[in-house]
Amino acid sequence: MKRKILLHPDPRLKKVCAPLPDLNDELRALADDMLQTMYEAPGVGLAAPQVGILQRLVVMDCIKGDTEAPRPMVMFNPEIVSASDELNVYEEGCLSLPDQYADVTRPAEVEVRWMDRDGNAQQQVFDGLWATCAQHEIDHLDGKLFIDYLKPLKRQMMTRKMVKMKRELARS
Ligand code: ZN
Repeated sequence: MKRKILLHPDPRLKKVCAPLPDLNDELRALADDMLQTMYEAPGVGLAAPQVGILQRLVVMDCIKGDTEAPRPMVMFNPEIVSASDELNVYEEGCLSLPDQYADVTRPAEVEVRWMDRDGNAQQQVFDGLWATCAQHEIDHLDGKLFIDYLKPLKRQMMTRKMVKMKRELARS
């Protein structure tokens, strides 16, 4: 089932999410819904608070195009255990801020620990777009958006555009 994606500004996107004590079928169904929602958007990552669920769950798939098989990742309680000193700049966007993009500097490589869909502990090093995406999504679980890395003026400009967009959407 496709879920509704919350748009910035929304107080639920600013909350620190609670860790998940245990996996259950309801959470697995939520993860499947989030993957479907992300693919249909389309996007490369989605965090539970973006669909209004304040729990530590993210999904991502940074495979682009049709030449490679999809690689859906479901991460419960993801944590960054280490990050490289080397940095990388990516032009980021977010499904909660449609049509807004900006360069964000983050560590080029991160090691992430999480629990997968089957409840198994996983740990992996990500680089490239995967590293940026993992950090962007995990930030969502701490109530942080990519625009929080920008200068206040730029952030306010994007927020104003979003307020306007939401007002127009509410009217239509
Ligand atoms: Zn996002």
